[in-house]
Amino acid sequence: MKVLTDDLIIKNFVEENNFSDAAKRLFELQKEQWQMLSDGCDSLETVKSKSFQFDGFKIKVQFNTGRMTSTSAKVDPKSISERKCFLCIENLPSEQKGVLYNDKYIMLCNPFPIFSEHFTLTYKEHKPQRIIDTFTDMLYLSKDFSKYYSVIYNGPRCGASAPDHLHFQAGNKFLMPIDDEFHQIKNEYGKQIFEDDTLSVFAIDDGLRKFISIESLDKELVVNTFNKFYKTYSELMNEEQEPMINIVSFYEEEYGWRIIIFLRAKHRPAVFFAEDKSKMLVSPAAIDLGGVCVFPREEDFNRITKEMIEKIFKEVFVDGKLLKKLQDDLKN
Ligand SMILES: [Zn+2]
Repeated sequence: MKVLTDDLIIKNFVEENNFSDAAKRLFELQKEQWQMLSDGCDSLETVKSKSFQFDGFKIKVQFNTGRMTSTSAKVDPKSISERKCFLCIENLPSEQKGVLYNDKYIMLCNPFPIFSEHFTLTYKEHKPQRIIDTFTDMLYLSKDFSKYYSVIYNGPRCGASAPDHLHFQAGNKFLMPIDDEFHQIKNEYGKQIFEDDTLSVFAIDDGLRKFISIESLDKELVVNTFNKFYKTYSELMNEEQEPMINIVSFYEEEYGWRIIIFLRAKHRPAVFFAEDKSKMLVSPAAIDLGGVCVFPREEDFNRITKEMIEKIFKEVFVDGKLLKKLQDDLKN
């Protein structure tokens, strides 16, 4: 594959199974070789941001004009079928280089970054975004990138801007406030579903977000718990397609995986579709819900308030009754 980098230092890292440093090196090299990425990183350095403090956690908002295409992406089947897939190898810009992972995924740098090092981990062939049979891949990826990065997944109907091409993303740990605040949020707002020495599963409603957390050092336990969640939740939502979820996977050598599954009722809030001056271009996906909420238009960034953030977040999540039902069903 001519997309793959021939850098020897990266090759050495890959041979040592050190994908975190391979990724870091790839990002540095690509910034030198690829103007679009270099411009994207320059513009990220000057983005405006502000922060809203809630009870026990914060939400940062970021004015990031580079995210316009992604935020406003048309992801309906007709629009998707009419565009060239921007994740297929043959459509990548000639300067873009990648690293092969496990003979399945290609690690690529995202030229419209939110993280200072932001990657797309794209499947080597064109096949739909889907988590149920790729969740194990996500666990391996997040372990292998865990020295510096968290791995995220956006469902095909709630945030993936290429719902037709399987991909994950990776970005610097601790950019999303939830990486750091998780335990405090869990202690304050979590309801235990299951807990022993090997596995901890909680249902959490922090007032803005409703999510399930799974923590374990044991990969099989995480996978089995996720599969059980997926089945129960699909039945509860009466979904034949993938239920709307965004996932953040955070791995630490000492504690293992921490999976956060955001439970979505809606892809985009009503203000996204408004045609008057109340319109706001905001399209929450995993990174936004993890606490870095991106606004590609300056006027939206300027007038966003804590109350509006609260309203937008609440609107795109399932309600408390549903979370309670899921918690009860998972306990049984
Ligand atoms: Zn594709």
